[in-house]
Amino acid sequence: MVNLKISTRQLKLKHQWKISRGSSSEKEYNFIELESDGTVGFGEAAHNIRYDESLESIGQFIESAVPLLKSANPMEFYNLGIEIANLSPGQQAAKAAIDIALIDWNAKKLGIPYYRMLGLNANETPITSYSIGIDTVEIMQQKIEEAKDFPILKIKLGSENDEEIMRAVRQITNKTVRVDANEGWTDKREALEKIEWLATIGVEFIEQPMPANHLDDVAWLREKSPLPLVADEDVKTAKDIPVLARAYDGINIKIMKSGGLQEAWRMIQLARSLNLKIMLGCMVESALGITAAAHLSPLVDWADLDGNLLISNDPFRGVVVQKGKIILPNATGIGIQPIE
Ligand code: MG
Repeated sequence: MVNLKISTRQLKLKHQWKISRGSSSEKEYNFIELESDGTVGFGEAAHNIRYDESLESIGQFIESAVPLLKSANPMEFYNLGIEIANLSPGQQAAKAAIDIALIDWNAKKLGIPYYRMLGLNANETPITSYSIGIDTVEIMQQKIEEAKDFPILKIKLGSENDEEIMRAVRQITNKTVRVDANEGWTDKREALEKIEWLATIGVEFIEQPMPANHLDDVAWLREKSPLPLVADEDVKTAKDIPVLARAYDGINIKIMKSGGLQEAWRMIQLARSLNLKIMLGCMVESALGITAAAHLSPLVDWADLDGNLLISNDPFRGVVVQKGKIILPNATGIGIQPIE
């Protein structure tokens, strides 16, 4: 017998968060507690309006999964995950919350951390980048100052003043910098000019330069681009990956897009078979979602798991970052603790 408790929580952001398509100063998400046989698994749904998700639509999806979960054996999380993914299309963050809770519950039952279920070495976690949202040049410089402990920065571009922003970044730091245009460049020739210039000031790669579904443009761009191109908004689940291999050098996997950890695992295997680089990213999420994803991080080339660091009232404690290095918690399950 499985019992599911659904609640919502407000997460306050340290700074207003701005990317090329909008801004926010707080987030309200659905959280779940999946209880069975005295063990509780936790899940979070960090929904994204970009993917037609809202607090309400996520709540509705989770409610729709309750009858299936109540009658299921939670130990059979593989088939259960596929049944939940097939309940109705979209609402990936809701599917992720249920999947995270199922995995947390199972690893706790086995008495091991999730990374052990996957056969991974916790010492092989990568360095995560720290994202700097779009802001005035002065505030972006101040945020970079605050991020002094992080050796890698991810700069959000795709606004009017990309060049001004990058000049200001390079004025105060020579750290490794990655750029995320968040679909902000709409003309391929203009995008190429920007990328060629960014290559001259030491940028490592470019994420989602053009709007999603412009694969012909991205393939054209990739042929000429001096920097690797990484898909984000163009990829959600494994089925999106094969067609991307002709246009991109890598993909950004996020458990809130994939619908959870199990699908993220499948995506990693498929991407590797196509010689794609892999980045593990996130939404603005509490330590619950970030810690869950961090267990997969020994498998990837690049990590961008900083979503919880943007929150001032995180309701959970889990993964720790030391000079950018991801430190997995030494606990069973996902390894998160609610903060009372
Ligand atoms: Mg991105």
